Amino acid sequence: MLISIVAPCYNEEDVLVRFHEAVQKIAEELLPLGHDMEFVYVDDGSRDRTLTLLKELADLDARVRYVSFSRNFGKESALLAGLRHATGDCAIVMDADLQHPPELIKRMVELRGQGYDQVIAKRTRAGDRFTRTFTARLYYRLINRLVDVELVDGVGDFRLMSRRVVDAVLDLTEYNRFSKGLFAWVGFPSTTFEYENAVREHGRSSWTLRSLLNYGLDGLLSFNNRPLRAAVYLGLGLVLLAGVYTAWIVGSALVNGVTAPGYVTTITAVTALAGVQMTMLGVIGEYIGRIYYEVKRRPHFLVKATNVELTKDLIP
Ligand code: UDP
Ligand code: MG
Repeated sequence: MLISIVAPCYNEEDVLVRFHEAVQKIAEELLPLGHDMEFVYVDDGSRDRTLTLLKELADLDARVRYVSFSRNFGKESALLAGLRHATGDCAIVMDADLQHPPELIKRMVELRGQGYDQVIAKRTRAGDRFTRTFTARLYYRLINRLVDVELVDGVGDFRLMSRRVVDAVLDLTEYNRFSKGLFAWVGFPSTTFEYENAVREHGRSSWTLRSLLNYGLDGLLSFNNRPLRAAVYLGLGLVLLAGVYTAWIVGSALVNGVTAPGYVTTITAVTALAGVQMTMLGVIGEYIGRIYYEVKRRPHFLVKATNVELTKDLIP
């Protein structure tokens, strides 16, 4: 079995060489079991020496294939590029920052041997800040009520995928890629195992609060139109409420005669409704924005340098 290690790298000069040594070591251990390995590194427009290091690694090790983007296109695009360039019978997607322990590769390969198409590593939240753990829990609880695929806390991109899973993922050509959801959407026999979260040693996570929030919204909006449905129901609910309120006002005017208080009620109703409408417009706008990006059919990334040919064509 040929195993492709797919790793997106963005400003990883501090750990890249150590990462490669670590996976190389695993490759040596898997060789006697009849498994070969190739390494597909995607430089996502790094500003540091990542590309230089990749070239050096490729010179030293013929199994290294690298692709370098013309600019930073984001991890999702890097993952896509990596999977497109992978030629293995299965692919293992992992971060280059050593937060995904290379040791676990052996476990994944073993479970693949038992016939699973996706072997998913689920990280614990040890070492995470309480606020992040808490919001993550809340988010997953909420989102699983809203989306069609099951998203699990701690399950990320670290996973092994069989060739048919990789091909299925590559056939999803959508521009807005929410990999977590795409992998879950593809399905096939899957199994999950837990591992202890490793705290980042070098550099820093590229996640900010804002990017996390945006990522959360992407997850919500990428998989169905339920938020639009919710808008319809909310609108209908408000109409019903307004009807009842009007009936009450008219009724009380008939009984008590017309009085003219109600300044607070008016202002509250106006601002609340304006808020609801803006939010709903935003939801609709988000979907239209997505359609806009889809219809443009722009490539997901542009390649600046590589030592391999594309195995799968760009957008069909
Ligand atoms: N990454 C990337 N492009 C980006 C941001 C990150 O390819 O724009 C890569 C990064 O090099 C790493 C992986 O994606 O291998 C995960 O990134 P990071 O460690 O910042 O995220 P976290 O581990 O905090 O989720
Ligand atoms: Mg990381």
